[in-house]
Amino acid sequence: MKYANSGSKIGVILTIIILGLISALVVINNMNSEKANETITSKLPKIEGQPTLGKEDAPVNIVEFGDFKCPACKTWAESIFPQLVNDYVDTGKAKFSYINVLFHGEESKLASLAAESVLKNSPNEYWNFHKELFKEQPSRITPEKILEIGRKFANVDLERLETDIKQQTVIEELNNDLELVQELNVQQTPTILINDTIVNNPFDYGELKKLIPESVMN
Ligand code: CA
Repeated sequence: MKYANSGSKIGVILTIIILGLISALVVINNMNSEKANETITSKLPKIEGQPTLGKEDAPVNIVEFGDFKCPACKTWAESIFPQLVNDYVDTGKAKFSYINVLFHGEESKLASLAAESVLKNSPNEYWNFHKELFKEQPSRITPEKILEIGRKFANVDLERLETDIKQQTVIEELNNDLELVQELNVQQTPTILINDTIVNNPFDYGELKKLIPESVMN
């Protein structure tokens, strides 16, 4: 009986702890959703030399700071990005640029070197290659994996791709991206900017839409 008693006491204590944790989570969640209405004004990053999708003269600039190894970036790339492209890029209202972030170390670097190589040598394949890199998650990115992805594209020169990742011939592009990351003090990926405003919650499509100036909506 003694054991049963202490057992039920522990049960009560555990229940109290769990309830406490749940209410703390609810409070944190509420704080987050309040924060979702705020936006931080920032500088517009220089998109010269970056892969850019859409019409050059599109009135709105959307920029992603992303990491090919970041799971949230994969989710964003496969859920929100296609909607944005459909609603704003394909309609000529916005153009979309992507800047590499290397928060996940060597694998991020390798994927980004490969993407920059494809951008330089076969720019028409860039966005498909970009998509494939996200699709590969959570597989390990190795030079062999990069070539395996490259093989899916008839226009990608595999020898050049191999040389570019081995000799890091496009490292300047990565250094340039790093400068932009530091300039904007990017702390998390994906970080999405609509013109000069950082989107607080890039997964909230409604918030993204609200940041698109009304003047381009018609
Ligand atoms: Ca770049």
